[in-house]
Amino acid sequence: MTAGAPSTRVGWGFDAHRLDGEPPLMLGGVIVSDTVGVSATSDGDVLAHAVTDALLGACALGDLGEHFPSDDPASREADSMGLLRRAVAMAADAGWQAAHVDATVVAESIRVAPHRAPIIAGLADALSMGEGAVSVKATSTDGLGFVGRGEGLAVVAVLTVVALS
Ligand SMILES: [Zn+2]
Repeated sequence: MTAGAPSTRVGWGFDAHRLDGEPPLMLGGVIVSDTVGVSATSDGDVLAHAVTDALLGACALGDLGEHFPSDDPASREADSMGLLRRAVAMAADAGWQAAHVDATVVAESIRVAPHRAPIIAGLADALSMGEGAVSVKATSTDGLGFVGRGEGLAVVAVLTVVALS
């Protein structure tokens, strides 16, 4: 961090994947469906990807695809929560620690609520912060667009980092 720079920053993340792959569907490292899955080069964990991008964005450290390119076999095989942990280490090297995250899963027929507790616990652990600082919400698009047609799902996330002293 540059001397004199603000000690708090916000990052924003977005990710979407097609729902035309093999089950299971992972969100935040937790299996949320055994009947649908995404087609992706990785485990297709849209929640982990959006949160990782929000963290990298808050720290001005580029984006997920830059650090973990999908054509790199190591990235492809890595689980997405593992990539998030690597991004947390990069953020710490740059002088930042996550302090809060609020994510919204946008999906038509995937139920997040029954899995919310383990998802929050996993994100809090990966981000090295308390579960009370992790919010995971869900919404639909009222039948509109690619989400409404069940073709895919998306996640938006906003994340705050504070400077490590
Ligand atoms: Zn993704």
